[in-house]
Amino acid sequence: MKNDIPKVLKIAEVRDENPTVKTYVFRGCDLGAKPGQFVNLWMPRVDEKPFSVSYCDKDEFWLTIAAVGDFTRKLRDEFSVGDKLGVRGPYGKGYTIPEGKKIALLAGGYGAAPLYFVAQEAVKKGCTVEFIVGARNKDLLLYLDRIDQAEGMNLYIATDDGSSGEQGYNTQILERLIGDVDIVMTCGPEIMMKAAMDICEKAGKPIEVSIERYMKCGSGVCGNCCVDGLGVPVCTKGPVMLGSEARKIKGLAEFHRDNVGFKVVW
Ligand SMILES: Cc1cc2nc3c(=O)[nH]c(=O)nc-3n(C[C@H](O)[C@H](O)[C@H](O)COP(=O)(O)OP(=O)(O)OC[C@H]3O[C@@H](n4cnc5c(N)ncnc54)[C@H](O)[C@@H]3O)c2cc1C
Repeated sequence: MKNDIPKVLKIAEVRDENPTVKTYVFRGCDLGAKPGQFVNLWMPRVDEKPFSVSYCDKDEFWLTIAAVGDFTRKLRDEFSVGDKLGVRGPYGKGYTIPEGKKIALLAGGYGAAPLYFVAQEAVKKGCTVEFIVGARNKDLLLYLDRIDQAEGMNLYIATDDGSSGEQGYNTQILERLIGDVDIVMTCGPEIMMKAAMDICEKAGKPIEVSIERYMKCGSGVCGNCCVDGLGVPVCTKGPVMLGSEARKIKGLAEFHRDNVGFKVVW
């Protein structure tokens, strides 16, 4: 799909993932997205927002979206099968998927969805995948069955309250597995990714992280998603970056900037 002109697509299917997250399936479109890339979803007369691709083949792609604010709640409440939305993309740099390696994927929140796309491509390339998911409680977990049933993927779960899997942070599982994996890829809250970067640094293992900032154009032109310290737009230089690069972001896991550049503490 040519990326900068929004293509109007019908929602082909909507799947409930958990009480706040749904997966929207679009068919009849060869988006050509790689794991870790995102699209801008356009709701005419409302807004346009970035979402990671959680699955993509020649005929369909999925977006897995948490209802957190005006745009995403409107999507949840007013859009269903057959309704049209504009999609432009794919944008950004995705994860670097090696051949035949042992990969640990560390997911928090809706991060499990884009990492599931990574996992599928990694397995096709002969990798084994240790897929670690975490959430505050069992109701907020997602994609568990898909991961559990997939060939080549081992599922680990941690919840803050112990209602599913082991009690505590998913990073404690990563800490146990780190010696046996070649590379870590992560997507989720920045504080979790920062903790994973520290674990990897100590163990001397590479890590790729997905950095989210307030994005508008998707092409590196508007500058809204430029990060302090690096001064680069993460819509084109990211969202996926090496941990060693992400470390240079000033205020990593501490603050980000809103739609007009004001600091927002996480
Ligand atoms: C590269 C990237 C990939 C993303 N992938 C997903 C995904 O797969 N699933 C998902 O549920 N969410 C994803 N998001 C976050 C999603 O874009 C925001 O949750 C959404 O825009 C919220 O909009 P809202 O109007 O509903 O809420 P608002 O109340 O406007 O915002 C809630 C929070 O979402 C963030 N946000 C709002 N607008 C933007 C924007 N234009 N760009 C970036 N962040 C914004 C801000 O942190 C804000 O505080 C992604 C964001 C980025 C940058």
